[in-house]
Amino acid sequence: MFNASVEQAAERLRKAVPIMVRHGIPVTPLNYALWYTYVTNEDPTLNQRIDEIVSAYGTLPLTSAEGLFREHVSPTGSYETALGRVKDRLEQMVQGIDHDLNATLADTRSFSSLLDECSRDLRSPGRGNTNLDDIFGTVDRLLQGSTTMQQNTSRFEQSLNAANDEIRRLRSELESLRQDAMNDELTGVFNRKAFDIELAQFLNHGDHGPSIHLAMLDIDHFKQFNDRFGHMVGDRVLGLVGKQLNAAARVGVSVYRYGGEEFALVFCGGSFEQAVQFAENLRTTIGNLVLRDTRSGERLSGITVSIGIAARHRGETAEQLLGRADTALYQAKESGRNRVCSAS
Ligand code: GH3
Ligand code: MG
Ligand code: MG
Repeated sequence: MFNASVEQAAERLRKAVPIMVRHGIPVTPLNYALWYTYVTNEDPTLNQRIDEIVSAYGTLPLTSAEGLFREHVSPTGSYETALGRVKDRLEQMVQGIDHDLNATLADTRSFSSLLDECSRDLRSPGRGNTNLDDIFGTVDRLLQGSTTMQQNTSRFEQSLNAANDEIRRLRSELESLRQDAMNDELTGVFNRKAFDIELAQFLNHGDHGPSIHLAMLDIDHFKQFNDRFGHMVGDRVLGLVGKQLNAAARVGVSVYRYGGEEFALVFCGGSFEQAVQFAENLRTTIGNLVLRDTRSGERLSGITVSIGIAARHRGETAEQLLGRADTALYQAKESGRNRVCSAS
């Protein structure tokens, strides 16, 4: 990407930006790098995957863009690498402080023995306290020792101050990395932030884009499950559900953790019947999971899920669509759980 001449780069820019605008893709550095590579035609696999995704969603979802960028454009630009860099810097800094601290401690120790020595000299009868030259000698040694100590201490203080600044910088970098992250750590699916951004992106087309269906999936009686087997086992089950959902996800079906034990699935393109069938299959797969306590091998009671699903109406906002999917989920719960209910 960076080897092109200025004219070539400008030409690619002229090609890339209109495509991005047409597909409602925000011009971020990551997206730009991706679409720049796209218009160079240098990586046919990348272009094929972008085409496939754009034809399903009518846009390039943020989470797909991140994955493609990592795989095809810059393996070093990933979230994990950035996190790794922060960790390395932190480690370097801790080692630096440790080194300075040890040096300062060694200086403190030698200053302390100098003090002892001088005090001994001054107290010993016939020495130090009678001969002026001796006293001067002792005072000079003390002065020299304390000056060195002061210099070293101030160096250490400076290095602590510098470390403090660096820690603050690292903290804010970590903070923005955390905000950039689109993955939910516990379940491995995309997180709520990704959901909010992408649903808005999908609906951005107004009524001209592909059909959109939204399913809200909630684990049944999960509080009871936690109470019975413990929160940690509950966490592992959430991880397992996330794994099932991730395995089911594909181009046109994106999965997110909406919060707690609730997940959202967004279907782009395809019919409502297909989305309902997909949800039904998922409900059955999760209901058939055999759960075992990894420590005792004991078989645990299984879990079931309830799903509410809604087709996006013309002109509907994300909030309205969510509201209807939620109402359908509520109906699924009310009518006995472990079922899929469609919104009207
Ligand atoms: P319902 O069938 O009506 O959905 O019942 P429920 O018990 O699943 O629903 P409720 O909303 O009363 O409780 C949700 C429970 O999900 C409460 C909380 O302990 C559990 N939960 C939410 N997030 C987590 C999590 O990250 N880890 C674990 N282990 N449990 C969670
Ligand atoms: Mg629940
Ligand atoms: Mg819930």
